[in-house]
Amino acid sequence: MAGAPPAPQTLPLAPGLYLVSTPIGAARDITLRALDVLASADVLAAEDTRTLRHLMEIHGIAVGDRPLIACHDHNEAQVSPRIVKAIAEGKSVAYASEAGTPMVSDPGFPLARAVIAEGLPVTAAPGPSAAICALTLAGLPTDRFLFAGFAPTQKSARRSFLQELAPIPATLVLYESPKRINQLLEECCETLGEGRKIALCRELTKRFEEVLRGTVAEVRQAICGRDMKGEIVLVIGRGEKVVSDAATVEAALEKALEEMTVKDAAAAVAEAFGLPRREVYQLALQRGKG
Ligand code: SAM
Repeated sequence: MAGAPPAPQTLPLAPGLYLVSTPIGAARDITLRALDVLASADVLAAEDTRTLRHLMEIHGIAVGDRPLIACHDHNEAQVSPRIVKAIAEGKSVAYASEAGTPMVSDPGFPLARAVIAEGLPVTAAPGPSAAICALTLAGLPTDRFLFAGFAPTQKSARRSFLQELAPIPATLVLYESPKRINQLLEECCETLGEGRKIALCRELTKRFEEVLRGTVAEVRQAICGRDMKGEIVLVIGRGEKVVSDAATVEAALEKALEEMTVKDAAAAVAEAFGLPRREVYQLALQRGKG
């Protein structure tokens, strides 16, 4: 029989760091155990204390007189010792990043590493992550996947990043800002080919959730002229074996040489086409001189 979910329980928690995953959109996607941990921990720590306070309010959990420590990219090294000390003194500490799973393109790693280094317990209240949510919706193989995080913002670094990913025989999962998604798709077209299958997953679990599936060319066409907003995960299907006819390799090399040194261009193209580096380097030397 359906009814209200059980109220969060305040339980005695063993000392340790509890990495708590929080919703990526719908507040009710939090797990019952995550709520119990948030209700029970001696100390709360968060990437954004206001976001955590708000989430706890929604679920009727008071912070009360418990410490609520800000722990984000800019201060994690400084506050980690304080949290480690609290755990060593027998306290339970719940840590949440702004959304989703801590450490997945989010803070938490230096903290977890510091706790582990002291031989203290680290555990998780697992839950949502945009990467896994997108992967389940993309309609692409999930037997082997690689999470690549955010692409670099600088153009030549992005190109090398994509060239490095292109030949990997796995589904690729990338985070991207709506401001750069058009640019990323354009570069995917150049690096991965316009026929590569992708899924653009936007605003997952939120009101305007949208999943666009198709080839790079089809998805580019679908968003052409649109002012993209919201949060985006790009899932890229595994590449077919690259057809490396001489003209294609030479064209890729020429493009790479416009932005890279001969050595870097050769390495990137060799990687992208699965060719021996030395061979491509010789070709690049000839081109570089020409
Ligand atoms: N830790 C989070 C996780 O486990 O997914 C990711 C944090 S990272 C700073 C934020 C990025 O995750 C966004 O720029 C977007 O690429 C992706 N993201 C987060 N929520 C999303 C959502 N509801 N729909 C689509 N992408 C999302």
